[in-house]
Order: sequence, then C-alpha cells, then structure tokens
Amino acid sequence: MAIRRLILLGAPGAGKGTQAQILEKHYAIPQISTGDMLRAAVKAGTPLGLEAKDFMAKGELVPDSLLMGLIQDRMQKEDTKNGWILDGFPRTPGQADHLDALLTRLEQNLDGVILIDVPEAILTERLVGRRTCGICKKVAHITFDPPEAEGCTASDGQHQWQQRPDDTLEVVPKRLAEYREKTEPLIAYYQEHDKLHTVDGSVNTNLVQVSLRELMG
Ligand code: AMP
Repeated sequence: MAIRRLILLGAPGAGKGTQAQILEKHYAIPQISTGDMLRAAVKAGTPLGLEAKDFMAKGELVPDSLLMGLIQDRMQKEDTKNGWILDGFPRTPGQADHLDALLTRLEQNLDGVILIDVPEAILTERLVGRRTCGICKKVAHITFDPPEAEGCTASDGQHQWQQRPDDTLEVVPKRLAEYREKTEPLIAYYQEHDKLHTVDGSVNTNLVQVSLRELMG
C-alpha cells in the first residue's frame, strides 16, 4: 500500500525537514512542520508565538496544549486532501493521542510512520553546523553541504543563510534530552500499532531519499 499520510519520526538533526521538503515536491503533498509553524508565529509576534518563544529558545518542547489548535487547523486545509507529511509532530504520547482522535474525526488513516534513525554521536555535529535560508527554508551544512549564495526559490535568487538560535552547543543537548525522554516512547507506540518503518538516516541525503521512496511506493 502506498504511504501518503505519514509521520517522519526522528531526533533533531535526523534530517526530517530536509527529506520532507524533497518528498513534498516529488509527491505533491505538503510538509507540515510544527517547528516551522511555531517559528513563524514567534516571528509574527502572535499570542501563540509569545507563549512558545521561551520554551523554544531553551530547547524544551512547548506544552502540548499550544500545538493542538495549530495542527487541527493545518490538517483541515485543502492541500492535505491527497496526503501529508508530518515533520516534528507528534512529539509526545499526548500529541499522538490527539492526532489519532483528529484523524478519526477527519475520517483519514495514518498510512505509516517512518523513523529516520541516526546515531546520537553525529546529531550534534549536524545540528551545530546547520544553516537555514530565512527566505525559502532550504537547509545546508557548513561542512557536508556548504551553503551557496545563489538559488533561493522564494526571492530574487540570493539565499539568506542563518543559524537557528536553538542550533547552538548550549541548546542542542537539551533538545536531544527532550527527544530521548518525551519523543522516543513513540517508537514503541507506533510499533505496537503496526505502523512503524525504519530507514538508516546516517547516510547521505540522496540515499535516505531513495529509502523513503521505496517505502512510500
Ligand atoms: P523543530 O524545528 O522540529 O526542531 O522544532 C523546534 C522547536 O519547536 C522544538 O525544540 C520545540 O521547542 C518546538 N516544537 C516543534 N514541534 C513541537 C511539538 N510537536 N511539540 C512541542 N514542541 C515543538
């Protein structure tokens, strides 16, 4: 069965966002990144953004209650009709329960959960070297995939490379600890529900993409 309604699961730095952006174009289904949505809310200074800001800066998960309305609204948009790629949600068992209930209401099935598995030892290096274009959201890495000036698809062509404030040596250990403590239990949860698939995320971007497409069909 083809997988078109899916969760990408994995630690910060596993490559969920990078892979989701490529899958979005290939399958014409939207990437739904709660991290991107929260960063947009912080930037816009909305009430949600003001509440989320300090948690994010410290590398902590924002309270489940802040995520529920956000994801509910997003998943009812027209572009989700043929599928969606959840990137960074759910991140706690409470969020997984909420998603189950939401999908029941929307009469949709979760086709699968794909864990992008990366050994912890290489996550910190990936995160600290990561740069993100502030305009088109493309991701690069100072060593593995050096940021190029040209090629921004959402502007006059020049990328604006930035380091995320939570991609620092001070904040990354907290984000990884949050993942271990609060998100990792979801692996067993989706395994029990017969939804879990795993790909090796330690190899290069193209190879991970090939594995994902093999699974998605
Ligand atoms: P990300 O871009 O997925 O790495 O998320 C960046 C930050 O946004 C996280 O460290 C959290 O503070 C917050 N965040 C994003 N998604 C969630 C979520 N599903 N639950 C709680 N916090 C989240």
